[in-house]
Amino acid sequence: MMKYAIQSRNDKLSNQLMDEAMDYLNGFGLVQDREEPDIVLSIGGDGTLLHAFHKYSYRLKETAFVGIHTGHLGFYADWKPSELEKLVISIARKEYDVIEYPLLDVTINYREKKESSLYLALNESSVKSPEVTLVMDVELNHNHFERFRGDGLVMSTPSGSTAYSKALGGAVVHPSLPSMQLTEMASINNRVFRTVGSPLILPAHHKCVLKPVKGPDFMVTIDHLQLLHKDVKSIEYKVSEERVRFARFRPFPFWRRVKDSFIDKNE
Ligand code: NAP
Repeated sequence: MMKYAIQSRNDKLSNQLMDEAMDYLNGFGLVQDREEPDIVLSIGGDGTLLHAFHKYSYRLKETAFVGIHTGHLGFYADWKPSELEKLVISIARKEYDVIEYPLLDVTINYREKKESSLYLALNESSVKSPEVTLVMDVELNHNHFERFRGDGLVMSTPSGSTAYSKALGGAVVHPSLPSMQLTEMASINNRVFRTVGSPLILPAHHKCVLKPVKGPDFMVTIDHLQLLHKDVKSIEYKVSEERVRFARFRPFPFWRRVKDSFIDKNE
């Protein structure tokens, strides 16, 4: 028997749709299971799906996600509320494929504390300093690449390339490419200080390590979560071996979503 869970943005329309979806799904004999769902319906926006992803990140191999948008069209939330009935019928009949997108592994090591903090990001991780300027050495595959001075650095997944990374001039990367992208936030570039100045797209087997030059405390985001990490020795990024699974009920090509979201919705 198929088990489902619903994550709502918690506004009136999303909660109303959640009630409707539950009625339909229960009517088709599916069972609500908030601990071990086979499928998670996220109702709201891409931000709601980020919350759902982190809630169920402990069972990514078993759970597939699908997003309904109650606001504008999203990249993860690409179903319209009017399509709810159609979607529920497809779920009940298991008429869907599963597509997988790459994720980002984030490891934060500390100078004194032995245990590292491990995170998984669906969109990206950003690093900023509580002081005005972030100064970090950037290492690629154990080799020193540059000393970054500026507002911050962002490492994004391919599916996160349409979010924060894009606002920083990053490329839009197709989610079938297992990769991660490093973008700069306002780097200081003059005769003395120099960074590459372009976003870098790194393949799956590469590793990027940030090593503090100034100040041991950093604001690190993992998607919508932000934490101050103290006494940081290094921050490591690599493409994760884990992947997120999305239930795909009909073709909706990525470039079509990019066009509809950023250019126009007309032919
Ligand atoms: P938020 O500030 O409430 O929303 C940020 C916006 O990013 C929302 O419009 C959200 O879409 C959209 N978004 C999220 N994931 C996306 C994706 N993969 N592709 C395209 N758009 C996407 O924050 P939140 O809802 O908690 O989401 C956290 C995310 O905000 C972070 O992961 C980061 O990517 C993004 N962010 C963006 C900027 C920027 O663009 N300058 C700055 C900081 C953070 P919905 O409206 O559909 O939820």
